[in-house]
Amino acid sequence: MSELNVVSISEAKIPAEPFVARHLIDGEWRGSADAATFERTSPSHGSVVTIASKGGEADADAAIAAARLAFDKGRWSRTSGKDRATVLLKVADLIDRERERIAFMETLESGKPISQAKAEIEGASDIWRYAASLARTIHGESHNSLGQDFLGLVLKEPVGVVSIITPWNFPFLIVSQKLPFALAAGCTAVVKPSEMTPATTVILGELLLEAGIPAGVVNIVLGFGDPVGTAMTADKRVDMVTFTGSTGVGKAIVSAASGTLKKVSLELGGKNPQVIFPDADLDSAVDAVVFGVYFNAGECCNSGSRIIVHEDIAEKFVARTVKLSRRVPFGDPLDPSTKVGAIITPEHQNKIDTYVQEAKASGAEVPLGGGALQVPGLNGQFYQPTVVTNVSSAMPIAREEVFGPVLTVLTFTTLDEAIELVNDADYGLSAGVWSENVHTCLEFARRANAGTVWTNTWMDGFAELPFGGIKESGQGRELGKYGLEEFLEAKTVTMRIGRSREPWVA
Ligand code: NAD
Repeated sequence: MSELNVVSISEAKIPAEPFVARHLIDGEWRGSADAATFERTSPSHGSVVTIASKGGEADADAAIAAARLAFDKGRWSRTSGKDRATVLLKVADLIDRERERIAFMETLESGKPISQAKAEIEGASDIWRYAASLARTIHGESHNSLGQDFLGLVLKEPVGVVSIITPWNFPFLIVSQKLPFALAAGCTAVVKPSEMTPATTVILGELLLEAGIPAGVVNIVLGFGDPVGTAMTADKRVDMVTFTGSTGVGKAIVSAASGTLKKVSLELGGKNPQVIFPDADLDSAVDAVVFGVYFNAGECCNSGSRIIVHEDIAEKFVARTVKLSRRVPFGDPLDPSTKVGAIITPEHQNKIDTYVQEAKASGAEVPLGGGALQVPGLNGQFYQPTVVTNVSSAMPIAREEVFGPVLTVLTFTTLDEAIELVNDADYGLSAGVWSENVHTCLEFARRANAGTVWTNTWMDGFAELPFGGIKESGQGRELGKYGLEEFLEAKTVTMRIGRSREPWVA
């Protein structure tokens, strides 16, 4: 693969001993009740990097019981916003202190580049600080215009016990988009990281204890969707589930949670389009398209995996995209210059390749990539940067989440046609537009069916701005003040003033 930029370092810096991850239940580190464990193998280096306790029903039950008790005793929910903020700020400082260690484990388990992992951990501590600031803003409403006999209050209260279930692609960042907001609101939590990436959530547990979080307020159960995730979604002692992951599992969670009608917040998949008009700053657009599709090896809900290019510029734009793609450093995620690392599992690598081969068989062209990437000296799985053209919007590769470094190209001639292609999707997570004309950008932003629209940029995010999807990309929002609201219930208190009430029975 000499025409690609493949990065390989000769000496793999893998620790001799795997990280040992255990459950955090009621303030204590515990193995599983049945002593079961499972291993995580580094997707880029092929060696075992973590041995984790494998949770069963008994462990999930103990964690839920601890979270319930901590909530009902008011160990956290009845503290002041100021006290909660103080703990969250301490956690943020500790995350900064442990940034290197967290990023290293994140890279070993997920295969993402170390430079990116460090940036994500930095972003995560910023979110903990932002959530701390929100903890002191919680307030409801007062109604003083209900007539002289009444005063009405709307109190904001924590939802209660929250189950937090996270995926493998951004393990530390995603738990940090949920947990600090739940804690700011006064909730208690049971957290289950993905079975692929348990270590950094366990490190977060260590930091929470060090910061002084009371026992039972945050519990962590390691293991698989079945039985741990299913118990966390069906148990009646849980008041809310917040889940990030695949749309299929999201639907299973909605149905499991319906038995007790608990609140459900979902951040699911996407098939996110970027539309490129001929008047765009094409240098920036090409760079953003390449970033959008290869970032995190395309294993990203926000992957810009579908570009919709104006016909007049399509041929040249694709040629430039292919040229720039060849320069992206793919390879060993422990090398600081690497921008794209490994694919999470061999099974997932096959799934990505199947999409590409099926598209080819249906008449699509593949001007770049389309197969496994060999990285010298490494025993993991990598996929080549891949561009697929001559695609119709009906093909699975243009509609479904490939979750790999694979770009699909469609073309359009009018803005109406572009919008139609954008909105012809089951997903509605994010969408982007590239044009120097503000009217084009604004019209696009108003008509695109998506939770986030980027104009002349891609994937910029801020703790202050809400994030989430519509249609099959999910429900509810994370981040911003909306992210806090998810974890609050409104309680109405209606008060009669004085003794003026007319008796109902004369
Ligand atoms: P996944 O749905 O397979 O697993 C996510 C989590 O759910 C894991 O912890 C898993 O153990 C657990 N789980 C599995 N089955 C369960 C069940 N029946 N009940 C309860 N929990 C269960 O997703 P993944 O493969 O880890 O992550 C990739 C997916 O996540 C992609 O579809 C991606 O788009 C999505 N994602 C979305 C966002 C977003 O913010 N919208 C962000 C990142 C990832």
